[in-house]
Amino acid sequence: MIVDTLQRPLQSLRISVTDRCNLRCNYCMPEEHYTWLPRESLLTFEEIVRAAAAFVHAGVRKMRLTGGEPLLRRDIPALVRMLRAIDGIDEIALTTNGLLLAPVAHALRDAGLDRVTVSIDTLRPERMAAFARSARHADVVAGIVALRDAGFARTKLNAVVVRGYNDDELADLVRFAADHDAEMRFIEYMDVGGATQWRDDRVLTREEILKTLGEAFGTPATGRRRGDPHAPAESFVFPRIGTVGVIASTTTPFCRNCDRARLTADGTLFTCLYATGGHDLRAILRDASADQDALRNAIAAIWRARTDRGAEERLAEPDRQPLLELGDLRADPRREMHVRGG
Ligand code: SAM
Ligand code: SF4
Ligand code: SF4
Repeated sequence: MIVDTLQRPLQSLRISVTDRCNLRCNYCMPEEHYTWLPRESLLTFEEIVRAAAAFVHAGVRKMRLTGGEPLLRRDIPALVRMLRAIDGIDEIALTTNGLLLAPVAHALRDAGLDRVTVSIDTLRPERMAAFARSARHADVVAGIVALRDAGFARTKLNAVVVRGYNDDELADLVRFAADHDAEMRFIEYMDVGGATQWRDDRVLTREEILKTLGEAFGTPATGRRRGDPHAPAESFVFPRIGTVGVIASTTTPFCRNCDRARLTADGTLFTCLYATGGHDLRAILRDASADQDALRNAIAAIWRARTDRGAEERLAEPDRQPLLELGDLRADPRREMHVRGG
């Protein structure tokens, strides 16, 4: 097992397969224009799989495909099938906004995908239109329905809670998830790169989320990181509805247990969502003289030197403002949440 300077093992990998997105969620992509990663810099499926295999060799057991919107990349089931062929992976999951999910749900399951998380912040199409600039709310719901039909279990639904946007829908979202055999998870609004509209008074805190849910569903049992101590979500079991997850990255960060690496679509490795810089693995992947051991050793060396505690450091800021300004984001799109994969 490879551990970093804080004794945190490298065990999970988020792979962003594209920086493009068909939504413009206000907490993630609020601007009119973006600088995109150059096409020729994007890893091919074959390169992604070689990188993934090297991460597995370095200790990774769980993988998640993300983006941007991962289903905008053509033939994701083929990528899942290729990843599935790597020995030693316990779980392959996908995080999607659901717009393109319904038509590919069966193919994803057949390819060997284990689990899906769908982001759904509101049950009101007009709110999605205003907040995420899309009229396709019905497609998201159809995607969630299609998951069950395709045989997926343990589906999770994610909502970022933003005061004044969806904070009056928490109980409705939990009921909606229960009706669709899924577990609802609420994420505190984070001041990550790209979140240029972030303000601390827009963050509904973990305590406020739990109070609202408690009023609707009764007092929950104490939160636990179920099964996996490295999981970002705390699970709360409410007497009248069951389990709800809360990811309190802004007010109660969990950096000391963070076992997660992130690979961007252009092959840059980030060891923290808040890290200012990444590590270029594409150069190694495209160097004919470098073999899989070279790649694995590079990953291991980067992880061993890791000191990141981004969210904990942000918490210590006395006057918290958005992490980065527009100019910084335009200069290096890899600082954006939608490029790092969330
Ligand atoms: N497009 C896919 C989706 O939305 O599910 C996958 C990529 S998205 C960047 C991954 C996750 O990041 C989503 O669950 C999204 O809600 C979350 N996210 C984006 N910006 C955020 C922010 N400012 N605070 C908290 N979560 C955020
Ligand atoms: Fe929304 Fe995900 Fe797209 Fe960001 S990447 S704008 S969170 S759908
Ligand atoms: Fe991990 Fe960085 Fe997030 Fe902390 S802020 S949990 S170190 S990715």
